[in-house]
Amino acid sequence: MDCLFCKIVSAQIPANVIHKDALVTAFRDINPQAPTHILIVPNEHIGGAADLTPAHTPTLAALFAAASQLAAAKGLSGYRLVINQGAEAGQSVFHLHLHLLGGRRFAWPPG
Ligand code: AMP
Repeated sequence: MDCLFCKIVSAQIPANVIHKDALVTAFRDINPQAPTHILIVPNEHIGGAADLTPAHTPTLAALFAAASQLAAAKGLSGYRLVINQGAEAGQSVFHLHLHLLGGRRFAWPPG
């Protein structure tokens, strides 16, 4: 499968990887929207949030556990976690990813 994030997970293409475990990989977003902008992705290919099933529960837990650990490591007391599902919502890479954004104030509602 020709998937950018699968290739980052398998180190076929380079990325600034800052965490990897049995279930998830985290790396810096190439076009950061905040002082801290990290993407956390499942190691297995999942197209997006709409493709999640109960069988993915351990992977989903690992995504959020990595996010809270990385946020703590960066000293972030507040941060935003985002999953864009579908092109209408801004999804541009169709491999599930959690955006961890921090280091500035965020507006609500989001753009
Ligand atoms: P989304 O628009 O929610 O699908 O998010 C995809 C994110 O992937 C964007 O924030 C991009 O900046 C980021 N991105 C695209 N290519 C790369 C890459 N090679 N390395 C790191 N981040 C990337």
